[in-house]
Amino acid sequence: MATTADVVVIGGGVIGTSLAYHLAKAKLRVVLLEKRHLAAGGTGKSTAVVRMHYDNEPETRLAWASFHTYVHFPEVVGGECGFVRCGVLWLVGHDNAEKLRANVAMHQRVGVNTRVVTPQEIREIEPACRVERVALGAYEPDSGYADPLLTTFAFATQAQRLGADLREGELVTGLLAGTSVVRGVQTSHGTIEAPVVINAAGCWAAPLARMVGVELPITVQRNQVALFRQPRELLRRHCVVADITAGMYCRPEDTRATMVGAGAGEDGVDPDAYNEAVDADFPSFARRKLSECAPVFAHAVSRGGWSGIYDMTPDGKAMLGQAGPQGLYVACGLSGTGFKKAPAIGQSLTELITLGRSTTVDLTPFRPSRFAEGQPLRGQHEYGDGGHFWQTPGERSSSRSR
Ligand SMILES: Cc1cc2nc3c(=O)[nH]c(=O)nc-3n(C[C@H](O)[C@H](O)[C@H](O)COP(=O)(O)OP(=O)(O)OC[C@H]3O[C@@H](n4cnc5c(N)ncnc54)[C@H](O)[C@@H]3O)c2cc1C
Repeated sequence: MATTADVVVIGGGVIGTSLAYHLAKAKLRVVLLEKRHLAAGGTGKSTAVVRMHYDNEPETRLAWASFHTYVHFPEVVGGECGFVRCGVLWLVGHDNAEKLRANVAMHQRVGVNTRVVTPQEIREIEPACRVERVALGAYEPDSGYADPLLTTFAFATQAQRLGADLREGELVTGLLAGTSVVRGVQTSHGTIEAPVVINAAGCWAAPLARMVGVELPITVQRNQVALFRQPRELLRRHCVVADITAGMYCRPEDTRATMVGAGAGEDGVDPDAYNEAVDADFPSFARRKLSECAPVFAHAVSRGGWSGIYDMTPDGKAMLGQAGPQGLYVACGLSGTGFKKAPAIGQSLTELITLGRSTTVDLTPFRPSRFAEGQPLRGQHEYGDGGHFWQTPGERSSSRSR
């Protein structure tokens, strides 16, 4: 086993494996260390919606630069990511209508295939939708969802094919660093020396960084997903719908089931000991929210659900770039929206490390130092609450407010 590398990546989620793939493609000797197994963290629980609708341009650019990879995964990376093009509808009420118009104009400038749609057009696109409270929608006909495990496994397989050393069951216990330069990592199996270390440890990234005196403002938040069988009247693959007026998002799982995320997350959970199931009252809450958007689900049969964890930052945006001693980088704080951006994050951070600047997407807006500088990343036309639109202020105050 190698005891030296050009780059050590900590974390075997979709971000860590995308990094390993892109770094290996750039001909660097990569060792990826995962304490449990690939996709053991937030990635394995993801609903994996792939869309470009954001209220700020930097995130739209990351998602857009990743989109081509998802659509053409077998040719671009190799293997399967399970991308399904079903269209994404983003619905808002009158209070957000002008913001939606401005955001869609920004998406179109970036190059995204998206348009503003009226309530009548929404009904034509997705007849199951209720539109009484909806003022406008944004429609991305080419967007959809992918499979988070297939994507992670494919990045990992292709990284290994390019020579990367991926080790599961190996815990990073320490970062080797002087006051100004990183030298490698200490693991449960020994020492690996490397001039570059990337912390892609998701909800575990902050304690790792603290080992070398770097404070990352990440909090761990548990979020629930409910699964319903589709009612007899539907039984088809519907659009992904993010409905601000109902406070929920949903996406199909094949043609028979629908996943729903709704309500506030639970802050401050232990990522190693949180409740991975749903609360007893969550399926009925999620069904109610879903049927506010699509009444056909009012009596949908529950198939339970699961919970996953978000690594939240104060502005709800990722931290990507150098942090602390020279050679130490972070790719964390994805705040519940990192799956769709993983290809471009892997590529752009590889460029930053090898060329000194990221050319695919400029990562400057995501620099970890922005919080200390008092410059959080904000959208020009935010729908509210750092982009986590389905958490209305009332709901966000307590996960029990349902
Ligand atoms: C319920 C849910 C729904 C979501 N829906 C969407 C969506 O629709 N669209 C979207 O774009 N995003 C979505 N996300 C967010 C997205 O899935 C995450 O942002 C992304 O998967 C995070 O990947 P990651 O690699 O950064 O972190 P993780 O997947 O958490 O990976 C970090 C890894 O690091 C490992 N690790 C930690 N500490 C150490 C250590 N000391 N040594 C070695 N290994 C270590 C962990 O075991 C873990 O496997 C969702 C997330 C959840 C939970």
